[in-house]
Amino acid sequence: MDSVLRAHRRIGPRTLLITTAAVPLTGWAVHAVALHKQLAATKRDPLTGLLRRDAYSARGRRLLARHRDDTTVIMVDADKFKAVNDTFGHAAGDAVLATLAARLTAWAGPRASVGRLGGDEFAVVLELPAHRRAQRLEQLVRILHTPVSLNDGRTIDVAASAGAASPDMTGVRDLSALQRAADAALYDGKHAGRAVLATLQHVSVPSINGRRAGRPGTATWGRAA
Ligand code: GH3
Ligand code: MG
Repeated sequence: MDSVLRAHRRIGPRTLLITTAAVPLTGWAVHAVALHKQLAATKRDPLTGLLRRDAYSARGRRLLARHRDDTTVIMVDADKFKAVNDTFGHAAGDAVLATLAARLTAWAGPRASVGRLGGDEFAVVLELPAHRRAQRLEQLVRILHTPVSLNDGRTIDVAASAGAASPDMTGVRDLSALQRAADAALYDGKHAGRAVLATLQHVSVPSINGRRAGRPGTATWGRAA
């Protein structure tokens, strides 16, 4: 009995108070972390881990506001991707999409906004000033055309087309308008193994079946067309 009383005295009312308060606080902290993780997960596409459209756009607009003319918006669409599914199966197609997403993320760097806009279509917003665009776009085309090795040992030849748009080249600063211009540039170089940089012309290219018509006379980088 004496030893119990002595132990009580050692612990003291202050320690007891702190311990009693800490237990529910720890519970709340764990709950808050779980909630935060759930919220972060809803912003991401489960297959590729890339941002979904809303989260990508919000981050992209912040980058545009910060870097202005030094921002580049890039649209990417896998080439003949239906054939990948048809030849290798849907699971292999999924693995290819996840690999392309990982390559885009690695290429764009930690400060970029990289999103999966749907199907085999991706978008990137990053700080990329004019003097580095040609070299970086060439590098992007190269990595998007590197064959993908599956876990089962098969190798899939992949290809993707890219279009890039920047405020200094197009005269537009709005993310949606830059994406449309980049998309029009992408379709200029579709299936040609090159990245096309949008000019003023691409901003006003009319839409055909939801896609933009191509324009000649554009700057391109990448493999031989
Ligand atoms: P293009 O060369 O003109 O880009 O044509 P494409 O064959 O790549 O086809 P398109 O871009 O028009 O359509 C994308 C296709 O990607 C449609 C669908 O079969 C496939 N796809 C869309 N989402 C997924 C997915 O989550 N997983 C897999 N495996 N395939 C998908
Ligand atoms: Mg495609």
